[in-house]
Amino acid sequence: MAKVTKKVKRIKIDADKCNGCRGCEIICSAYHATPRYSTINPARSRIRVITNRLEDIWLPVFAGEYTAAECLGRDVYVIDGKEYDECGFCRAVCPSRDLFKDPDSGLPLKCDMCEGEEIPQCVQWCLNDVLVYEEREEEVDEEFEITMAEAGVDSLINQYGLDKVADMVARRRKDR
Ligand code: SF4
Ligand code: SF4
Repeated sequence: MAKVTKKVKRIKIDADKCNGCRGCEIICSAYHATPRYSTINPARSRIRVITNRLEDIWLPVFAGEYTAAECLGRDVYVIDGKEYDECGFCRAVCPSRDLFKDPDSGLPLKCDMCEGEEIPQCVQWCLNDVLVYEEREEEVDEEFEITMAEAGVDSLINQYGLDKVADMVARRRKDR
């Protein structure tokens, strides 16, 4: 099977350094506004800071994949004596919460690593070095890559219909 080289991008999160300033949410929502930088609305950000002030918890979480069904159970993490919210570490866009959904259209938001930028915007704007960008190369099967991309598109079309998804793609294209 043919192999292709895939660039794996990741952002390492040192949550202990986060002070909840929400600069990452602001720049992400501004960067993805149409036209770019025209509005700021953290509800449209692809990174959200899960906050519990009483427990001094500030946890940046990136928007991940859309899922049509919520989990049947919940996880609770206790780290250094702090109890994190059920679902706190989860990146999924799921029916159990409003997180990572466009407030107007309801369409799922997903971190795209600020595609086209050398360094993602939230990494550049986090002045506390909570977010550290890294990348590496990996060899994967070409067919698997294509299948994964198609499955993602099919899932969106099933949920929102072809017209809505096509409209979203057209808006993104205009933005680039
Ligand atoms: S910009 Fe950095 S310090 Fe501020 S909330 Fe985001 S991750 Fe935390
Ligand atoms: S990498 Fe870009 S798209 Fe992802 S959360 Fe940060 S600013 Fe938003």
